[in-house]
Amino acid sequence: MAWHDVVIVGGGNAGISLAARLRRIGARDVAIVTPDRPHRYRPMLNYVAGGQASMSELTRPADSVVPDGCTWLPTTAVAVHPAERELELESGERVGYGDLVLATGLEEDLDAVPGLAAAMAAGWSSTAHLKTQAERTWTAIRGMTHGRVVFTVPPEPSPCGGTALKPLFLALDHWREQGVLGQIDVHLVTPYASVLDLPFADRRLELPLAEAGVTVHHGSTVAEVDHAARTVTLGGAGRGVLVDGVDHAFVVPHYRGPSWLAPLAAEDGVGQVDVDPATMASRTAPRVWSLGDVAALRTRPSGGALRRQVEILADNIRAHRLGDPLREYDGYTIIPITVDRRRLFLAEFDRTGAQQQTTGLTDLTVPRRWLWAFDRYVEPVIYFRSLLKGRLIP
Ligand SMILES: Cc1cc2nc3c(=O)[nH]c(=O)nc-3n(C[C@H](O)[C@H](O)[C@H](O)COP(=O)(O)OP(=O)(O)OC[C@H]3O[C@@H](n4cnc5c(N)ncnc54)[C@H](O)[C@@H]3O)c2cc1C
Repeated sequence: MAWHDVVIVGGGNAGISLAARLRRIGARDVAIVTPDRPHRYRPMLNYVAGGQASMSELTRPADSVVPDGCTWLPTTAVAVHPAERELELESGERVGYGDLVLATGLEEDLDAVPGLAAAMAAGWSSTAHLKTQAERTWTAIRGMTHGRVVFTVPPEPSPCGGTALKPLFLALDHWREQGVLGQIDVHLVTPYASVLDLPFADRRLELPLAEAGVTVHHGSTVAEVDHAARTVTLGGAGRGVLVDGVDHAFVVPHYRGPSWLAPLAAEDGVGQVDVDPATMASRTAPRVWSLGDVAALRTRPSGGALRRQVEILADNIRAHRLGDPLREYDGYTIIPITVDRRRLFLAEFDRTGAQQQTTGLTDLTVPRRWLWAFDRYVEPVIYFRSLLKGRLIP
């Protein structure tokens, strides 16, 4: 049976960045278990859906992102055996570990919204959140000259769910430029009492939504869709509301943790790994850790949150071995939001929802052209050249 000092499950932003960071601080034997599938810089999917980027710009072969000096096991993990400190692979083989890190991300739960899978197959619904549908989303936006559409902000947990507002604002501005916005009845369904339940961000969003004539359904989720009847039925505070005559529904699926991790999951029903949200250590399995979207860190998941999580978890794995005190993650996370096709602002906050800006030099909650250019053009370069290489970016 193979054995590695640190085994990481998942070759997304979290797993690759952590492996690279561990190597930088001296770990000699790090293995990554992740299937041989292209690695994607997922934040760019929203720009693909908004007609401002192409899929090829965000995609790299898996082997090109595995950090130098790490062992890559190109397969899928199916079970953890904490008592034996072993990870079981799809083939039935087991890999022993010194420390195990679960970084599998979340899985789409299409069945949570009855009718959604069929509506997507029929092309009546699409979302930037699925790699197969980002381009189709832009095709739908570009082809729209009149009618009724529905956009959603997904319930948590979701991969940076608040950025579902990006394709909405990119679409509104496109329709404005085309002179058709007045003929399109736009609905937004959000699970929050305000737009995002973040007052410092909501005040930047409410005016542009009102100016574009968007009807906002607060405290609501999509309970069901029917592409044949062209209806979207709401749940939550909007229970009973039926939006009919819908021409296209831009619905982000609900998400949950992978079912094979259920034995290690928190009892919140969404399947994220039960960890101490500060130290990222499993509450039930010794020498098991988790970070990224799959970890129950009591904050809204995002790639930006990983900048802090990766550094702290790499240090904690080492500190735990040395018997030193562990560092604590405060839940810092970020939602970058475009308000039109050339301006963007950043909502940065901790797990209490309190604003936490990483620079005091300028107010990043003011929509600015340079922030949009940075998010669209500079962030992908930083991601591939620095974040996936384990370099720290404040
Ligand atoms: C449309 C969209 C827009 C976004 N925009 C932003 C943004 O603007 N800013 C921002 O900060 N964040 C954004 N995010 C969120 C960000 O992309 C995620 O938070 C980040 O990708 C999480 O990384 P992760 O490694 O935890 O999970 P993932 O990226 O989901 O990676 C998980 C990896 O684990 C692998 N895996 C899964 N199961 C197994 C298994 N059983 N065995 C082995 N490997 C497995 C998968 O193949 C994958 O490689 C966005 C996300 C999406 C979808």
